[in-house]
Amino acid sequence: MFNALVVEKDDDGKTHAAVRQVAADDLPEGQVMVAVEYSTLNYKDGLCIGPGAGLVRAWPHVPGIDFAGTVEQSADSRYRPGDKVVLTGWRVGETRWGGYAQKARVDADWLIPLPDGLTTRQAMAVGTAGLTAMLAIAALEDRGLDKADGPVLVTGAAGGVGSVATALLAARGYEVAAVTGRPEMAGYLHALGAATIVAREDLAEVTRKPLESETWAGCVDTVAGAMLGRVLKQMKYGASVAAVGLAGGAVIEGALITPFILRGVSLAGIDSVMQPLGARQRAWQRIADDLPLDKLEDMIRPATLADLPDLGAEILKGRVRGRVVVDVNA
Ligand code: NDP
Repeated sequence: MFNALVVEKDDDGKTHAAVRQVAADDLPEGQVMVAVEYSTLNYKDGLCIGPGAGLVRAWPHVPGIDFAGTVEQSADSRYRPGDKVVLTGWRVGETRWGGYAQKARVDADWLIPLPDGLTTRQAMAVGTAGLTAMLAIAALEDRGLDKADGPVLVTGAAGGVGSVATALLAARGYEVAAVTGRPEMAGYLHALGAATIVAREDLAEVTRKPLESETWAGCVDTVAGAMLGRVLKQMKYGASVAAVGLAGGAVIEGALITPFILRGVSLAGIDSVMQPLGARQRAWQRIADDLPLDKLEDMIRPATLADLPDLGAEILKGRVRGRVVVDVNA
């Protein structure tokens, strides 16, 4: 038996999460059993701990969309007991049991070996959020973004994806403008490498203007909603936005077609969940090579399995800073 954060749903549709003992026989089928060391809290985990009916298919459920640990048993020749591995995505923690447990069983195809230069804890400080941030930056660079082009905007900057995007862009030599709704995060964001702080309210209003001054050379957008509508109109000619999430809402409003037609702006959608093995491994190695580990340490908020019900509610309110790293054995 081992510990897991188990979420159950009652007849009224309310979810209840608590640390319980579960058996290895309860785990889903899969070729590789992993002794989990660290997992993290992402926005989707908040949904799966709380009102997650749309993501979760069966109850009881163990959330945790990413984890890192050591292979304990393997029926796949690519992995042997003792190997360090990382998992992000593939709907683990959503439609099947995930990383909020001391053991997890998954398909071998979903794992990658721990990238060189990272510990399991550092890999989870990066986690799904960091992989997504790197994929977003790569998408902007593939569309021509260069350091000399001018400031790159990061929205939801104090959140998980935003924090890693800010630190990675700054480490790669970009001038980062970090948008936050929390003025008290300015010091934190400057320490991650942001050159300027933009107040969320300055971009919150929906305007009828078809275009605004050309300001941003690129954007990693984690919030969508009204803010994305404003940001699109402020992009420089030919610039791109990498849209990652919708923490600020799913509806984009405003005179939206003009930036695409009159400025050649492009919008890249980023999905880290189904990234094929090769692309995932390359993105992880770029993170390990580029991300200053002292900055990574600044982003970490340590947590235990028992802390997750409260933290899950916090992340849905946009109140978590940086990356919550869960030591499942603490
Ligand atoms: P976090 O909650 O850690 O960060 C989101 C941040 O957005 C908050 O910290 C806050 O930043 C800002 N924010 C929250 N509410 C609003 C609002 N109403 N208006 C404007 N800004 C707001 O979440 P993550 O960083 O983990 O995830 C961000 C989004 O990206 C989520 O929608 C998530 O589902 C998605 N995502 C997508 C992935 C993919 O593969 N496409 C992978 C990972 C995440 P601040 O206080 O600084 O303003």
